[in-house]
Amino acid sequence: MKSKTKLSGLILCVIFAAGFLVPEMTQAATCSAETLKFFPVSKISQVIGNVQSTSQSYNTCNYKMSYPQPDGIATATVYSFDSPTAASNYFNSQYSNLKSSWTKLGIGDESYFKYSGGGVAKKGKYVFSIKWYCYCTQGTRLSQSQAQALLGYSASQVSGDTVPVAEDKPAPPVIKSISPTSVFAGKKLGLNTWTGFVYYTNNFSDLKITGENLQGVSVSFGSYGQTNLGDPIYLIGKSISTDGKQLTATLVTQNYVKAGKLKLTLTNKQGSDSTDINVLITGYQYLNRRFQGTGVTFRGEWPQAAPNADTDEIEQGVVTAMTAINLPAYQRLGLDIRIYSKDYWNSFAEKANCYTQGLRSGCSSDHDRVIHAAWISKTTPTWDKLGSTILHEAAHKLQKYYGNTSFNTDWIKAVGNLSNCQYLPLKNGAWNNGETNVPHCGFVESYSATRGAQTFGEDVATMTETLVFYPNKKTQGDWPTDPHYKAKEQLLRQYGFIK
Ligand SMILES: [Zn+2]
Repeated sequence: MKSKTKLSGLILCVIFAAGFLVPEMTQAATCSAETLKFFPVSKISQVIGNVQSTSQSYNTCNYKMSYPQPDGIATATVYSFDSPTAASNYFNSQYSNLKSSWTKLGIGDESYFKYSGGGVAKKGKYVFSIKWYCYCTQGTRLSQSQAQALLGYSASQVSGDTVPVAEDKPAPPVIKSISPTSVFAGKKLGLNTWTGFVYYTNNFSDLKITGENLQGVSVSFGSYGQTNLGDPIYLIGKSISTDGKQLTATLVTQNYVKAGKLKLTLTNKQGSDSTDINVLITGYQYLNRRFQGTGVTFRGEWPQAAPNADTDEIEQGVVTAMTAINLPAYQRLGLDIRIYSKDYWNSFAEKANCYTQGLRSGCSSDHDRVIHAAWISKTTPTWDKLGSTILHEAAHKLQKYYGNTSFNTDWIKAVGNLSNCQYLPLKNGAWNNGETNVPHCGFVESYSATRGAQTFGEDVATMTETLVFYPNKKTQGDWPTDPHYKAKEQLLRQYGFIK
């Protein structure tokens, strides 16, 4: 506490007024200018009774009144501090045990009427106290309305920052409900038709939290993923109801926020409470995050929250294919594997990349490192169809890499003389007996015997994918008895197509 007022001497101008009416104070007030600023003689006279004289004692001004007016002495004290916080600390240390039995006045930052005849108030860096002792026999004291009038005036003279005081019983925040309980990470902005990439913008949701003691809480989020791009989840426009029972804000989530349960914590000086918000991501986001850095990208739309049954199938197919091509022979190819959603494949990507429509589930060109593969959900399981398509195209790339080396001449030897194959020539793409999917003459299926861009290209690719994804085919058709199958399998192993 810092006293600004020095003892100015106890100059008690006692006027013996008994027996005649006393006019208003004629002498200059002797109290300090600061005390008189907040408790001027005119105000005391108006509210209690005419003041005859004043005297200052430390921080207190004594205002003497005389009979037959309400007589006695009013004492007004002004404590001035360096800061509102220091004033609050003093106020609490002096009155904390008493104020629960006093009546709140609603003046300044905090104020009370004392039943014993006085009042106290705090505003900004000032603490005010007013009392009145009547000499009259009725035991009259300062009334609540008089305390209200005087302290109200004092507080009105304070300018500058004030520190609102917390409720009587400060307590940690309590969360009772939160809405929404789940939000998507970002909001779709659009699909780039040419690349198949989906772009996202900020997702704005109306957040509402109900509970207790929410006044002044701060809101924080638990670990939410990448931060080098800025906070991926944050609030704007936070607003808390005056009763502390409701917090509203706009919750902003960005594309790159981490998926899953995100902890939201409300904190005040007394403690904190937490709840979870479930951050959802689409299948597009899930798959591209899952295979980031592996050379596999996903194009087109998978708008449902993921992981889900569809993304499980896709993930399994890609993982199986990536495991199969995790060999030195494939690694040197630097493959760029692009997986397309069904809608995007059917509406654009197949025609743009394979020059066909409704015919293929994948393709690759001889002129780049790209593999195009569509995930076309037909019957469960579908993961093997996607995975085998990827491996099939990778085998084409590897054969192209070998070019006119010993691999090609070795393979032609392994194919042998086909003039004795009773199922050839093909008829409308099928074996000449109408079968398609049965191994004959050293081929996995009739399609394997078609002439592609490379000599026996489909033979190499279908043999590779079948050995990894459909090995039970080795028991079907001619496979168990025709030695060409074994020769081809050995070559694929020797040249690094399979393990
Ligand atoms: Zn092929």
